[in-house]
Amino acid sequence: MQKSIELILKIDQINDSSLIKKIVAKKCGLAIEQISDIEYLKRSLDCRQSTPKYKLIVNVYTEGEKSLPVKNVFPDRLGSHTAIVIGAGPAGYFAALELIAAGIKPIVLERGKDVSGRRKDLKTIMQLGVVNPDSNYCFGEGGAGTFSDGKLYTRSNKRGDIRKVLQTFVAYGADPDILVDAQAHIGSDKLPQIVAAMRNSILEHGGEVHFETKVTGFLQHENSVSGVKCENGEEYFGDCTILATGHSASDIYYMFAENKFAIKAKPFAVGFRVEHSQEWLNKLQYGEKFYKQLPPATYKLVARGVGDRGVFSFCMCPGGIIIPASTAENQLVVNGMSVSKRNSKFANAGIVTSVGDEDFFEFAEYGELAGLKLRESLESSFYLGNPENFQSAPAQRTIDFLNGKISKSLIESSYIPGLECVDLNKLFPRKVAESLRIGLGQFNKRMKGFVGENSLVIGLESRTSTPVRIPRDAETMEHIELKNLYPCGEGAGYSGGIVSSALDGINVARKIAEKIQN
Ligand SMILES: Cc1cc2nc3c(=O)[nH]c(=O)nc-3n(C[C@H](O)[C@H](O)[C@H](O)COP(=O)(O)OP(=O)(O)OC[C@H]3O[C@@H](n4cnc5c(N)ncnc54)[C@H](O)[C@@H]3O)c2cc1C
Repeated sequence: MQKSIELILKIDQINDSSLIKKIVAKKCGLAIEQISDIEYLKRSLDCRQSTPKYKLIVNVYTEGEKSLPVKNVFPDRLGSHTAIVIGAGPAGYFAALELIAAGIKPIVLERGKDVSGRRKDLKTIMQLGVVNPDSNYCFGEGGAGTFSDGKLYTRSNKRGDIRKVLQTFVAYGADPDILVDAQAHIGSDKLPQIVAAMRNSILEHGGEVHFETKVTGFLQHENSVSGVKCENGEEYFGDCTILATGHSASDIYYMFAENKFAIKAKPFAVGFRVEHSQEWLNKLQYGEKFYKQLPPATYKLVARGVGDRGVFSFCMCPGGIIIPASTAENQLVVNGMSVSKRNSKFANAGIVTSVGDEDFFEFAEYGELAGLKLRESLESSFYLGNPENFQSAPAQRTIDFLNGKISKSLIESSYIPGLECVDLNKLFPRKVAESLRIGLGQFNKRMKGFVGENSLVIGLESRTSTPVRIPRDAETMEHIELKNLYPCGEGAGYSGGIVSSALDGINVARKIAEKIQN
């Protein structure tokens, strides 16, 4: 027999499994020996009261029954159909695994290197600020998700089976705790091994993965895509092609525009990373009595800026660091990441505000690429070109940003390439800067000390979502003009984050299987 129950536990009880078993037995009116298994379903921390508590939902099994481990099921042999998958990010790899499950051979083409080759290029970015345009924090095996914060929470409940995505990560080596934690997190020390295990599985089951293979165009028969051309001169053919190149692949948007394939400008958000001490945040969120006993605290904030512009926190990284996420020379983009222990002494988050038609106006001559042009213009304004480290970033104390003053000095930061004192207000369009100031002011009212001498803003955060949508048919998921081409994931504008991109990859692969089987 199986029964689901909810427990409210003190913070020192949550890791004591034998005590939890006793509590479960009492709550269910059972003797301990009658319980054959306890499966943890969801664990969340509730800090709304002065004493933080954990909420734990479990499945209780009796009469010898046990929870069943989940396994990926793949066919012994693939059929004769193939699908090209452009991009080895979460959308691409999850699509490839799902294609295999349906008996279709995936050929994954990735412009960057495998995870281990990628590491050397990341070191060069950190130490010298030199960016390899095909191998960086966004490009390479695992995509932008590999050296990321690895947060796995998403609001995309309606897009598919989130638990299947989490179970797949566990099957390839992630800690099973991610199936349970309300704020599941993997960390950039663990993600590379998981991504490599996914690739090995694709290869073992008959798929192909080609690194340093940048796709530059499509092979077409009238309006139907039959394959792709690559920068190295190679051509690949497939029944269908999944385009999962992420939102940093500007060259793909240019390729669409040059060929007059349908694309659509889309609002996105820009701003900066704000960095505080994690200890300050823990004390604020948990109180003096408990702050040392609980996991690094987080926050999620929303405000309204000028007019209808939203200002919100984005991709908060507790115990993390700020990293240079640029994908080309002469641009400055920052983002946040953390390792599984989240043990850095800093807490950072993107603080961003939405930009849309009003802000694209200046770039109207570029049509549907206007948002991309705004992004490029901002990313080059933030680039300082310091020869000691080309990725040194403009920074300011939060209080100085609010007052429009260049800081005389800066405090310690996690951003390794270095910081320079700049008034960030001057680098943003006027209304964007105004909205960010209004937002910060409101956040400071909600979280005392959010703005002050002891926190920094570091820019530019611009890779929040794609500035260009690659539109697809709602039913078939094919591009609205190009048959057999499936725009997928964050770069096409159909997901945001690791889990929703993985779900989109799965959904597209299923559509392809449906089409091929009919
Ligand atoms: C530093 C950082 C931290 C992040 N932290 C989190 C987090 O904690 N949680 C979360 O949910 N999300 C996080 N994200 C966002 C998340 O990584 C993305 O939402 C997700 O990776 C998007 O998946 P995707 O597969 O659609 O695209 P991507 O991951 O961007 O993958 C696209 C792939 O396509 C390849 N590619 C591009 N162009 C070509 C071409 N022409 N030919 C061949 N290959 C090409 C790229 O090299 C890349 O590998 C973070 C992102 C960054 C950069």
